[in-house]
Parts: sequence; structure tokens; C-alpha cells
Amino acid sequence: MLRLKNVSKYYYQDGVIASGFTKVNLELHLGEFVVITGESGSGKSTLLNVLSGLDSYEDGEMYINGEETSHYTEEDYLNYRRKYVSNIFQNFNLVNSYTVYQNIELTMLMNGKKRKDIKKYVYELIAKVGLNKYKHTLASKLSGGQKQRVAIARALANDTPIIVADEPTGSLDSESSKEILKLLHEISKDKLVIIVTHNKSEIEGYATRLIRMHDGKLLEDKIIKEVNLDSHLEEKKVSNITRLNKLRLGIRNTFNIPIKFTLMFIIFLLISITLITNYGGFKQSEYETNTLGYNNYFANNDSKRIIVTKNNKEPFTNRDYELISSLENVDYLVEDDLLLDYNIGFFSDNLYLSGTILNEDVNKVDVGKMPTSSNEIVVKGNPDNWYLSDMLSSLLEDKFTVDAFNGTKYAGKIKIVGIIYDNEANYYDELEFLLNEELLNDLTLSINERYNKVTYILNDNYFSLNNNMDYFGIKVSDNINSGEIYLSENFNIYCKDYNCLNNTFKIISENIYEKREETYKITNIFNSDNCKKILGINYEDASNYIFISRSDYNKLFNSSNYQSSIFIKEVKDLESTVNVLNNAGYNSLVMKDAQINDGATALQVIKILKLVATIILIIALFFISYFVIKIIYKSRNSYYTTLRTLGSTKSVCINILMKELFTIATITYSLFLIFIILVNKNILDFEYFRFITKYIEIKDYILVYLILILLSVLIANRYGKKVFKNSIIKTYGEKI
Ligand code: ADP
Ligand code: MG
Repeated sequence: MLRLKNVSKYYYQDGVIASGFTKVNLELHLGEFVVITGESGSGKSTLLNVLSGLDSYEDGEMYINGEETSHYTEEDYLNYRRKYVSNIFQNFNLVNSYTVYQNIELTMLMNGKKRKDIKKYVYELIAKVGLNKYKHTLASKLSGGQKQRVAIARALANDTPIIVADEPTGSLDSESSKEILKLLHEISKDKLVIIVTHNKSEIEGYATRLIRMHDGKLLEDKIIKEVNLDSHLEEKKVSNITRLNKLRLGIRNTFNIPIKFTLMFIIFLLISITLITNYGGFKQSEYETNTLGYNNYFANNDSKRIIVTKNNKEPFTNRDYELISSLENVDYLVEDDLLLDYNIGFFSDNLYLSGTILNEDVNKVDVGKMPTSSNEIVVKGNPDNWYLSDMLSSLLEDKFTVDAFNGTKYAGKIKIVGIIYDNEANYYDELEFLLNEELLNDLTLSINERYNKVTYILNDNYFSLNNNMDYFGIKVSDNINSGEIYLSENFNIYCKDYNCLNNTFKIISENIYEKREETYKITNIFNSDNCKKILGINYEDASNYIFISRSDYNKLFNSSNYQSSIFIKEVKDLESTVNVLNNAGYNSLVMKDAQINDGATALQVIKILKLVATIILIIALFFISYFVIKIIYKSRNSYYTTLRTLGSTKSVCINILMKELFTIATITYSLFLIFIILVNKNILDFEYFRFITKYIEIKDYILVYLILILLSVLIANRYGKKVFKNSIIKTYGEKI
């Protein structure tokens, strides 16, 4: 039983109170077919809205099955509607972009029904309202009468004891009107049906009770036909839409209005492009700031270089080299990278050349020829480099000595036989030298000697050498046999009878990784008289050195390799490669961490400014896109209000919208990523995107996706709040 006791409804508008209806007393029962008539403005709609819980009332009390409702909150009203009331409107309020089937199904999905369980029933209802031919026709394509049939089927699907219809035939021609009223009558047997109509004559055969309103009051309340009244209105069991169906509706809503899909696609695409390009630019400048530095240790500061050592401090084995070379992003591996960082010098009588050792495969030169012996080298540099332009003839004619090389093996014997031009190098850049394998090996040993700590032991006297003080340095002489050592007479003070001949002499060579120890027999003591004869050089050049054979020298300093360098293909893979290396038991150092950023403060400031600009852009993007999306979704107000009349809570509405936005964001972003992949694989030619994504890593792409998702969540929440801010009646009125 639905009962009104002295109920009044007022409207407050612009400070003026208007009355909808006043002091209405009414008792309605199951089984009644109540028809309300009255002139326009007499309060019929207002009364129906209050009865169906679409609007609140100010005075009096409304009882549902004896329960008071005046204290009802928004949520209580929602539950009341869900349990008791279905509405049929003059302008149908169907979802125009759904088919007949989907419109009816929607009601049942909102009531928590499973899709497969309701199929048969939906078809039955469609048959009942005579729309078999239009099952899968869009609601927008139907005539007014057909639309109202769908609305009736939907009300039936909702399965509530009360059906409220406000001028259901108001927009229909008289033929359709008759059919609709007949249909309403047919379904009214075990329900309470309340309808408002202007047309009394149409309704006469059906009404069991007639109420006439005038100026907000009941003028007449006449029982026309006694029916079997049931005073209790059986409330419907309600449950909420399932998670899966929320997702289904979200996905359905993504595609069901093509123009909306297109607009949203464009917006999300623009957001993705703006975020990625800006972020890419930011990463790039960050990268430049990091690498615009110098360091004292590494002559080769290629940003793609990673220096690798083993965690357990053991030398590299072939297994290590294989493992490292096979890593995904590795371009190539330089097993012993000592020479990468070596600044080599060559001097002749006229010239001093310095530079790094060329570290790539070369098979042709621009001037001259490829080297054929270990004394022949090739020089690479910018064509405008002073040595390669003005001094070219001297360069090609002179004989050079390797600076700081131990021994006389190459002294005055090096010839430059070829020149390679490198237009990418600056004209003032250092030169690069292509050296033969033998020369490289000799150089490595020579460098090892300088980097190692070398100690001599002669009769319990320790002599330590270090790089800065060449106190009795080691030299190689080809006149000495293996196992023998020649000392200058300066050493004699450390031996018995001032004679070291035939004593033993120990040399220890060590670095942080390993230690080598060799013992030699002193077989010759040289002095100013015999030096030239024994060693072939002047005593002044020999007095502060000890001399051993080339093979012994090699044995001492041919240390194992403890450090390698890899060069990766793409700078953006730097971090992930470092992670892989670390997990595989290696230490790694990347060049940007080895740089000293002197005077980088200015760059730091630029970097911060760029970051601020990026953040401002993202915020602006949020507001712009929200604004545009809000406009697009304004046309969706009626959809969400319809969901509301079907018993949807605010959170369900927000959730369905969120899933729709997720879907479109994901589709758009996936397509954008495929585009980026194709560009990076050179299948599509968009230089700009290739350039801008150079430094963007996978985690950055994920971050941008998360920003899109965050944007969707914020929009869905704001929009949902807006839709639920006003009453259903008001929101419907606002729809465009
Ligand atoms: P009917 O449906 O019988 O034509 P209504 O119930 O729509 O009449 O209106 C009853 C009275 O309430 C009218 O005087 C109307 O002006 C007023 N009214 C209805 N809706 C509003 C509203 N949203 N704001 C202010 N006054 C309203
Ligand atoms: Mg009205």
C-alpha cells in the first residue's frame, strides 16, 4: 500500500516558492489502474515524481507498506525506487544508441542479472510488446509508439510492483496511443499502475480509479471499478550489476556512438603525443646535461659504452665474453678495453701526433693504403685537421717513434701509410690511430707495467716503483737471454763485496687483481765503460734502469684481463643493460656516471626549467582535455540519468564510465605504441618521432599510460558527481 497523508511539495526558484501540490491525501493499492487527469500545471507530474521517488516532498508523510519516508536520504530513495517503482516517460528516455534488445537487457543487467540467464526472458518481453521484427534495431530508428513499447517492456523487465507513467501517450498519434494504453492495461493485472493522461476518453475502458487534479489539489478521486485489492506491495529483491557486466557496458559504450569514439580517440591521441614528445624532449636534455662533461680516466667517453668488471674480482674467461656478447642490446664487446682509454703519442723530428686507438673494423682508406706490417699505421680524422691538411706531406714521409713505449722495438720505425677522413669529427678533435695487432699487444704490456705496482728485491732490499717516479725503471733489451737480468753498477752497493754479479734479483708486479713474481740471475753489470758494448745504448740512457729480455717482460706484464667494455646499440637501453649485467654478477660503470660536470650549473637550471615546463604542460593538458571531454559527455547526461532511473548508484555510473574511458585510452595508446614501434623499426618513416623517442624507456611508456588512466579516473569521478548533483527530473530536463 502506498499512502500520502497531507503531503505538499514546493518548488524554490529565484527566491520564490511555488507550490507543486498541497495537502494531498491518497491511498493506492496493488491491482489498481489509477488514471490521473487535470489541466496543465495542476500538479500531476509533481505528484507522480513524488510517488515514484524521483523527487522529495516538504510536508506531510508518505508511507510505503506503512513505513514512513519523510526521513529518506538520497540513497533511501534510490533503494525505494529499485524495490518498488518503474517509470515510463512521455519522451521515452531510452538509450538511443542501444538496440531494442540492449535497452531491455540494460534494466536487467543493472539488477545484477547474468547475461545468459535473461536472454530468453528479454525475447519474451519483446514479443509481448509486439516488437519481434525490431529486436536488433537501434532505439533511435523506432517510431514514437514503438519506443514507448520498448519503455513498457523495460518497465516490465524491471519487475517492480508499481509502474508510473507520466503522459505515456503524450507524444503519440491516437492510433498508437490506443495500443499503448491497451498494453499498459494488459500488464497491470498484478501491479499498481498509475498513469497521467489528458485524454480521458481513451482510458475509460481500463481505469479502475480516476483522480482529477486542479491547482495542486485532488478535485475528485473516483473508484470506477472494484478490483481485488491487495494492500501489501511485494518489494523486489535487488542486487547490483556484476563487475563483468559493468565492463561489458563500458566497452559497449566505447563503440556505440562512432562520433564520440572518434573524438575521444583524437583527444587521447593528442594527449599521448604531447606527453611522449614532451617527455622525450625532457629526457633528451637530461641526457645531454649528464653527458656534457669530461673525465680524467676514460679517453673514450662514448655514451653507449659500459665498463664491466666481475663481482668476484676474477679475470674474464671466454664464457664471460660469450655471455656478455650475447646480451640483447649489446652491439659489440671490447674484451681488453685498456687501449680504449689510452692516449697514444707518435713523434718524429717535425711532428707530435696524439689521439686514441681506433676501435672499429676498417677495410679501406681514403688516402694511401692499408697497413701490411706492424710498423705501418693509419690515421683517422677530420679532413680539415691541421695534420691531415697542412702537414699531410710531412705526415706521410716522416718516421715516427711510439711515445712512452718500453724498448726500442719501434723507435723511428713507424710509418703512416693511410689516412681515413671522418667528416663527423671536429677539425680540432684528436686523431685516431689504426694499429696492427702486434703493436697493440706490445702497447698493452707497456701500459700494464705503468699501471701495476712493481717491486724489486735484491738481497732483502726492496725497491718500489711507481708511475710518477721512474726510480730504476724496467727496460727491455734484445741482447739479453730469458731468465737473466742486467743491472747498472749503481746496484752494487746492495751486494756483498760491492759486486752483484750472479746474485738473484726478484721482480714482483701486482695490481688490485693479481700478483706475479719472477726471479732472475744477474748476469751482467754495466757501467759507463761497457754499456755501449753490452746494451748498444749510452750509459746516460741506461744507468737508471734494469734490463730484461722481451719474453720475460711479457711474462711479467701480460696480466689477465679484468676489465672489458661493451657498446650497446641504443642509449635508452643503458639502464636495463646495466641491470642485466648486475644480475649476472658483473659490476658496471656507464660513462655519464664517470663524467665530471664542471660548470653544469647552467645546464642544471635549464633542466629544471624544462621539468617545470613539462609539469605545467601536463596540468594544462589535464584541464583542456577535461574541458573537451566534459563537452563530449554532456550529451551523455541522459544515458547516465537513465541508468539512475534504472537503479544505478553513483559509484556504478562512475565505474561504467571509467571502464569506457579505460577502454578508449588503452586502444588509443596501444595504436600509438604500435606506431612508435614501426617508426623505430624503420618501417614507417617519421624522423621526428624516431628522434623524440630515442631516450624513452619502457618504464616511461608505462608512466605515460598511467597518466592517461589517472586522467580517466579523475574525469569519470568529476563527471559522475555532476550527474548525481541534481535530481533525476532536473538532470533529464537539462539534457541536450
Ligand atoms: P502538470 O504535470 O500537471 O502539468 P506540474 O506538476 O508539472 O503540472 O506542475 C505543477 C506546478 O508546479 C506548476 O505550477 C509548475 O509551474 C510548478 N513546477 C513544476 N516543476 C517545477 C520546477 N522544476 N520548478 C518550479 N516550479 C515547478
Ligand atoms: Mg506534467
